[in-house]
Amino acid sequence: MGCFVCAKHRDPGLDLVGADELVVVTHVSPDAPGSDGAPVYLGHLVVEPRRHVAGLDGLADDEAAAVGRWVARAGRALRAAGAEHVYSAVIGHHVDHLHQHLIPRYPGTPREYWWLRMEEWPQARLGDAAEVANVVRDLRARLGDQGR
Ligand SMILES: [Zn+2]
Repeated sequence: MGCFVCAKHRDPGLDLVGADELVVVTHVSPDAPGSDGAPVYLGHLVVEPRRHVAGLDGLADDEAAAVGRWVARAGRALRAAGAEHVYSAVIGHHVDHLHQHLIPRYPGTPREYWWLRMEEWPQARLGDAAEVANVVRDLRARLGDQGR
């Protein structure tokens, strides 16, 4: 109860990057816990099992395969959209529902900002909800028939 991710998955207006019967892929939202309405790093995606599990060890084999497929698909879409590299991690400090982050690094990002400090770069691509919606539309189109 009270799970932000489960509630998000039930939202009929959720703007999906991609999904199937086991996994949902979305862009991080300026309204998510920990974001507090601040602009978010554009292209920062989360791949989540539909079922509420806390960590990677909770995934059934078919869910694990689906998470892996969507990480690869979304990573390809981010690369096609201009990322020179895609980072990925499970952190889980804010929400107790497994979500695997995909974070693109765009060309020109100075070495000292790579990985954990990319949002701190003054020229980092940050955006509000409208800009996030544009990125989601673009990635969904790049995923084509792999999405949904
Ligand atoms: Zn949940």
